[in-house]
Amino acid sequence: MTKEIKNPETIGLHGGEYRSDPATTAVAVPIYRTTSYQFKDTDTAANLFALKEFGNIYTRIMNPTNDVLEKRVAALEGGLAAVTVGSGQAASTFCILNCAQAGDNIVSSTDLYGGTVNLFTHTLKRLGIEVRYADPTDPKNFEKQVDDKTRAFYAETLPNPYLRVFPIKEVADIGRKNNIPLIMDNTSSPIICKPLEHGAAVVMHSLTKYIGGHGTVIGGILVDGGNFDWTANAKRQPLYNEPDPSYGGAVWGKVVPELTGANVAFAVRARVVLLRDLGSALAPDNAFGIIQGLETCALRMKQHCSNAEKVVDFLTKHKNVDKVIYPTLHKGELAARAKRYFKGGNGGLVGVEVKGGVEAGKKFIESLKMFYHVANIGDARSLAIHPATTTHSQLTSEELLAAGVTPGYVRLSIGIEHHDDIIADLNQALNISGNASIKPVS
Ligand code: PLP
Repeated sequence: MTKEIKNPETIGLHGGEYRSDPATTAVAVPIYRTTSYQFKDTDTAANLFALKEFGNIYTRIMNPTNDVLEKRVAALEGGLAAVTVGSGQAASTFCILNCAQAGDNIVSSTDLYGGTVNLFTHTLKRLGIEVRYADPTDPKNFEKQVDDKTRAFYAETLPNPYLRVFPIKEVADIGRKNNIPLIMDNTSSPIICKPLEHGAAVVMHSLTKYIGGHGTVIGGILVDGGNFDWTANAKRQPLYNEPDPSYGGAVWGKVVPELTGANVAFAVRARVVLLRDLGSALAPDNAFGIIQGLETCALRMKQHCSNAEKVVDFLTKHKNVDKVIYPTLHKGELAARAKRYFKGGNGGLVGVEVKGGVEAGKKFIESLKMFYHVANIGDARSLAIHPATTTHSQLTSEELLAAGVTPGYVRLSIGIEHHDDIIADLNQALNISGNASIKPVS
């Protein structure tokens, strides 16, 4: 029913093609716990392997439970096809390896999750892929880094800790002028932002966060927007225009539209080449868990966002707080971007600089009673962490500063509890941290 429904609340429950299990009529999506699929006959088996027909071959490459999740998230983001993988990290890796190879480069925003910085700066470098960084405050910084070997732009819609919204259309336009796709990590802002509508070519999520929503499952997904011409400039996108010797010389940019009638070469290549070779498949049990989360994601996002607004209001007035970071608290163009790109809320992440620096920040986290002190975001529960000593601790001091991680910064992921209880917990912890920051007179 995807085409008829546009509202995320409905897509979370009904998006895609699944209505009930064809074998049993079960309404809940079954967990297809199988490695393999019985082929009808030898011709069918040969056709499936040759991509002359599409169908289930082996769970490393596709699975009917995952298929439901893929179609629902694709519908949610307004894309044409999606591929699930074992984690958000695997999704970021796939996005890059699906358009760049040794000798190529990509241009990425400096505002990134610490794990992505490690992947880009160290692991991709060892594989021969250079990542050039561009400060997103001025979108033109992306253009300045482009050369003949640039294969993609990469950014997060709502990166923490800065919490400044990315200029999606501005950078997507620069990319399209140069036949370079913009890949957006939309992990922190499902529902409230749809990057494909603003010109991005690919969206990825760590499903571990708001979409799963219950802190029980790790997963990732990439969504092909179906809105980028991979063949417009053959030199720019060799992986889509040159024969692939690993698949009988297939030219992905040509063969996929011919076979499927759809512009989904990015998704198909990710599935049949990268999942085949790298094997980072999402287990169907985990896909099932994420499907449960997706059903209520739109409702939860409303509550995350409205609770976060109330927390921001409370924190900005508290005497023991130096600074509050939230998308709408930025000035000028940065605040305008939140207005331009977000609908229905400004996200559930809030940054806070507690008065008294690192020691007061630590005391604040240790004094929280309801908030969990964990490395995750986007859980239904409220969470807190000190990025400089945890999530971002593998970065150099320059990288920390570039990422906006100051020593006293505490990241809050505001949950869906009652806002009075969230604020009461913050208040009692701030009062303790405030006392800790008063130095005894000697
Ligand atoms: N992208 C963002 C924005 C994240 O916050 C994270 C994890 O924190 C990831 C990607 C990686 O996701 P995962 O932990 O599912 O591998």
